[in-house]
Amino acid sequence: MSTPSLDFDPSAVPLPQGHFIGGTYHSTDEAQIAVYRPSDGRLLGYVPDATASTVDYAVSNALHAWKTSGWGTRSPRERAKVLTRWAELIDQHAVSLAQLETVSSTRPVAEAYASDVPFTAEAIRFFAELADKLGGDLAATRRDSLGFVTSEPYGVIGAVTPWNFPLSMCSWKCGPALAAGNAVVLKPSEMTPFSTLRLAELAVEAGMPPGIFNVVNGRGATTGAAITRHPDISKISFTGSTRTGAAIMSDAALYGTKPVTLELGGKSPQLVFEHVTNLEHTARCVARGFISNGGQACVAGTRLIVHKRIADPLLEAVQRQLAPIAPGPLWHSTTRYSPIISRTQAQRIESLIDDSRASGAEVIFGGGFFENTEDGFFHRPTLLANVTETTPAVREELFGPVLTVQTFEDEEEGIALAGHPTYGLCAGVHTSDIGQALRAMRRIAAGTIWINRYGRSGDMIIPTGGFKQSGIGKDLGRQALEASMRHKSVLIDFEPMEP
Ligand code: NAD
Repeated sequence: MSTPSLDFDPSAVPLPQGHFIGGTYHSTDEAQIAVYRPSDGRLLGYVPDATASTVDYAVSNALHAWKTSGWGTRSPRERAKVLTRWAELIDQHAVSLAQLETVSSTRPVAEAYASDVPFTAEAIRFFAELADKLGGDLAATRRDSLGFVTSEPYGVIGAVTPWNFPLSMCSWKCGPALAAGNAVVLKPSEMTPFSTLRLAELAVEAGMPPGIFNVVNGRGATTGAAITRHPDISKISFTGSTRTGAAIMSDAALYGTKPVTLELGGKSPQLVFEHVTNLEHTARCVARGFISNGGQACVAGTRLIVHKRIADPLLEAVQRQLAPIAPGPLWHSTTRYSPIISRTQAQRIESLIDDSRASGAEVIFGGGFFENTEDGFFHRPTLLANVTETTPAVREELFGPVLTVQTFEDEEEGIALAGHPTYGLCAGVHTSDIGQALRAMRRIAAGTIWINRYGRSGDMIIPTGGFKQSGIGKDLGRQALEASMRHKSVLIDFEPMEP
């Protein structure tokens, strides 16, 4: 199949309006939130800021649909058929979904089309395929009784997603929750709301009962908190910053002792030992690992920890990768580089770089923003040397294309530097010595270790999730489906027995 023309006019893209509740768009006279185009800063449109009563309306629709539609009680294979059809519709609408993703998010249209949309469809397809594969456990009890553990859906799951990969994040949350037989009320980021609304519309077109998947728009502290606190929301699945994750965990504890899955921030290392098989390949991994989506990825590999003897040639090779990078409107199919999502975020990056320089760090490549990009904030890929573990850019998630560089002299020191006091989302390890790679794998406290690569593959069976303050629980993999169900223990005596 040939690739369709992807260039488009962003002002001609129709934007879904309102909330999506009970299988239909729902408009209200609530306050409006302005949504901007990150690559030129222009106003794109508005979404409503849902009040607690709109959240309540969405949750009651979800609960009613869950109780009456049979979604949670039908066979998993029946649910799988709907999810599979949903994935097919996502594939069929790949161009319009990619455009919708591109207008408000930081995703270049070519990447949204080639990666985000198919990744979203694949995640939903994966959970459809998994739906009837996890049936519970038979317990080893005495022979004249039968004990087993069965699983069942929670009911209504509340989901809250970030702005950096809106389509994929929606599929990571909804795929397992819906495959397990739950209903969902999801709040996307107020900065990137539109593609999620369209996904919900396609779910109904695929045959999902109206009310099983609802999207409510609004700000975090109000709408998001109203979802977390709602008494009929039985579980929360969140992706976003560590700070918001803590607020959600606290709300979940106070308002119903609800289980939470939290996918949070990171400050991930790329550890390069002295001997690698292919230096250019390692340099590509290092470069892509921190500039992808303008560095605005939870898994961004933003701390280079490199052996002293290989540091100079590696940094030269990384800089060769970075030199041709250029900004452009996200709706041009040739653009590959992402802007920073907002002025506030751009200012935060600059201020963390300034603070790092004040503490002795040196910009050895890049620095500042590309010029002539209208009002978009395209940060130059930037390398910061002379840093220590107390440098702000090493300590804090900066969410921009900035790589700190630290060197080491032996394996022990390298592995120690790769660890982070706060975060443990993932780590890259580059070496031609498999023993060394596996020693590092065992000792780095992170939820994912990539060896001689950096970044996820399309293998949805591999779960993702962090250690330490990078989160609790997993998205993707069978772990995500299991976390969308609660487990019930059953013990049956064959004949009356003394308890
Ligand atoms: P954020 O925490 O500011 O917002 C995330 C979502 O939470 C938004 O929808 C927001 O409106 C909502 N929210 C804010 N306050 C809330 C509250 N009190 N109650 C309920 N909801 C609330 O994060 P962001 O800036 O949108 O996204 C970037 C962050 O997400 C980064 O830290 C990044 O590392 C993280 N992230 C993690 C993963 C992962 O898999 N670990 C994936 C993507 C992004």
